[in-house]
Amino acid sequence: MSSKKKILVTGGCGYIGSHTVVELIHNNFEVIIIDDLSNSSIQTINNIEKITGIKPLFCECDLKNKKHLDNIIRYNKNIDATIHFAAYKAVGESVKKPLTYYQNNITSLLNLLEVQSNYNIDNFIFSSSATVYGHPKKLPITEKNKTQRPFSPYGNTKKIAEEILEDIANSEKNFSCISLRYFNPIGAHESSLIGELPNGIPNNLLPYITQTAIGLREKLSVFGNDYPTPDGTPIRDYIHVVDLVKAHVKALKRQLNNQQESNFEIFNLGTGNGYSVMDVIKTFEKVASRKLNYEIVDRRNGDVPELYANANLAKEKLCWKAEKNLEDMIRSSWEWEQKARK
Ligand code: UDP
Repeated sequence: MSSKKKILVTGGCGYIGSHTVVELIHNNFEVIIIDDLSNSSIQTINNIEKITGIKPLFCECDLKNKKHLDNIIRYNKNIDATIHFAAYKAVGESVKKPLTYYQNNITSLLNLLEVQSNYNIDNFIFSSSATVYGHPKKLPITEKNKTQRPFSPYGNTKKIAEEILEDIANSEKNFSCISLRYFNPIGAHESSLIGELPNGIPNNLLPYITQTAIGLREKLSVFGNDYPTPDGTPIRDYIHVVDLVKAHVKALKRQLNNQQESNFEIFNLGTGNGYSVMDVIKTFEKVASRKLNYEIVDRRNGDVPELYANANLAKEKLCWKAEKNLEDMIRSSWEWEQKARK
């Protein structure tokens, strides 16, 4: 019998999921990916194999289909833990199609929890977001900051999901959950074989910048320069995706080694450093040695002036700290974009 721990990764072909799978394989875990390929490509599996030398098991499945999910989990016996990424994530689209977002993100979670509980899989890592802090009054944001209703239905699915998980953790003492609240993940694997490839027009700053620079978009709209920040543009805590996924593996090990202090834990994943939109643009121009076409436009609804993490809890409890700086992150995003468009 294999001594490797078996980890189910939902959404394992996606941006953060695929980087996590690579890190799990590097750490000697056996990985089973479930993905419906709605916002990802099957080619990712081959690219994971190119990076790691191991092809993870892949099952195409929509988590809303409980019977299919049940068959997969029954067939792949003895799964030790689940890392749940699979979710719709386009903020703007979620405002237009809230029902689709609640149906997909919440039904998927409920099905997964129900099925895994039937097979006594008690360990769960959840992909959450700093969006659950809403418009925080106190910075930097610690895990003690109160959550608020997020601006978008997408954000609200993350908040509701955490509440569901906390309720289950309160009622089922065997259930262990760690929720990881991401700040702004950017960047790509150093191989440029996996990275972020958004469907259609990107919502997020980095893919919009790299797609503009490569000629797919005419210009970047900078959403407001009249915020109460030093250069007037909003400040965010950007974190390299490879740093981010390393925290997942640390959280998983904490869970599997029964080191959790309670069966529902939350950690912020950020660097603790805030950079403005103009800082990001200037850094991009430096690392890519080119000018970026951009214009200042009106503020975007729901944007807050400043968000950055206090990531001390993750440092203390997970022994994890983000290592890569803004230049590293942006360089890797740019290298990925250039390779992806070849
Ligand atoms: N932003 C921008 N233009 C864009 C996309 C984003 O100016 O096309 C700004 C946005 O206003 C915010 C920052 O970039 O201040 C990060 O936005 P993103 O959507 O990447 O992440 P968020 O922090 O909103 O989750």
